[in-house]
Amino acid sequence: MPGITLSAKASRLAQRGRIWFFRDDLAEADVDHGDLVSVHGPGSRSHGLGLYSQSSRLALRLCGSWSGTAPPTPEEFFAARITSAIERRPGAREPRVGRRLVHGDADGLPGLIIDKYADCLCLQVSAAAVEAHLDCIVPSLVAALTPRMVLARNDLTIRKQEALPLEIRLLHGRRCEHVEIEENGIFHPIDLYRGHKTGFYLDQRPARLLLSSLAAGRRVLDLFSYQGGFGLSALAGGALSALCVDQSAEALQRAQGAADRNRLSGLRLQRANAFDFLRDLRKSKEQYDLVIVDPPAFATSRAQVEGGVRGYRDLNRQAMRVLSPGGMLLTCSCSHHISSSMFEDTLRQAARDLPFRMIIRQRLGAGRDHPISLNLPESEYLKVILLQRLDLP
Ligand code: SAH
Repeated sequence: MPGITLSAKASRLAQRGRIWFFRDDLAEADVDHGDLVSVHGPGSRSHGLGLYSQSSRLALRLCGSWSGTAPPTPEEFFAARITSAIERRPGAREPRVGRRLVHGDADGLPGLIIDKYADCLCLQVSAAAVEAHLDCIVPSLVAALTPRMVLARNDLTIRKQEALPLEIRLLHGRRCEHVEIEENGIFHPIDLYRGHKTGFYLDQRPARLLLSSLAAGRRVLDLFSYQGGFGLSALAGGALSALCVDQSAEALQRAQGAADRNRLSGLRLQRANAFDFLRDLRKSKEQYDLVIVDPPAFATSRAQVEGGVRGYRDLNRQAMRVLSPGGMLLTCSCSHHISSSMFEDTLRQAARDLPFRMIIRQRLGAGRDHPISLNLPESEYLKVILLQRLDLP
């Protein structure tokens, strides 16, 4: 197996838990692009396996140690890691579920995401070294799950940093554009080629479940609704009505289709800029008992953090103002660069000067199928907070 020796400094960092390394961190690398390598410090200290990219600034990503006695071939490595990731997700093999099967570093497979939508699999590769092994990854998936289709949803801009093409490519099976998943008794339509991310916001599954349990008898406003994941869950939980607001006509159309399919009544759709919509709503003095704010990331880089914080603050202040007494706000941030404590600080600022108090009722994150690598705190990207308007007697 090819080997890489880290510099003394990088080796100390690896010992303390660092798992990503730049070219400067490598003392010796007699390796080719895409190689699965064994990584050592300057002595003989082993840092386990790694994946090496020639074309990326991030030259080496550690993948943890290997349990076998002999070093693995790439085929053995990917097959074993993929199978164990699936085994860590009970229920993932069920035919109609939507689940993340592989979540990058937290599954010992850096730069690889694999999502299952019923009998189809969508993968996303963000590391050149992983792309070089698609010929091992796809057969491993086929052997483990016999999917109808494996699709590469590699239309993510981060791939440019690795000199990888942006593309959507059929890797196995026949082209299948639409499937349906079942979650908490609701059927959600998935557009595999055109949907956001790999098709759906699988990470918000726990929040949709929570919302459904809170919705009975409530008037719900689902802002940045996409295809109504939250709004439909609320209706299934007994909400009186759910108004979904999104700027995408296509997403709203899918929400309507899903409401019909699930025989849910009370759905209203509004194609609008959510910021303008909230401003107009305040003028009309209309109120809602349950408001969801789940916008796209406002800060996608460190440089955007200040502006992003302002965006979250203003948006959440407007949303708090349309809550009925006792009303709840489920608010989310998926910005990697805004930590939980920063997000809560921002909400505190948003609630300042309101004529009522806000309390935190619950904190959530992405579901258990999206584990967080302790060594990579920024992989905890999704923050979900349930707030309630407190009107004391
Ligand atoms: N809550 C959804 C995911 C929301 S993703 C779910 O759980 O499935 C963010 C959504 O915000 C996208 O659908 C996008 O079309 C929409 N969006 C982005 N900017 C917007 C804006 N200014 N006004 C309204 N919608 C917007």
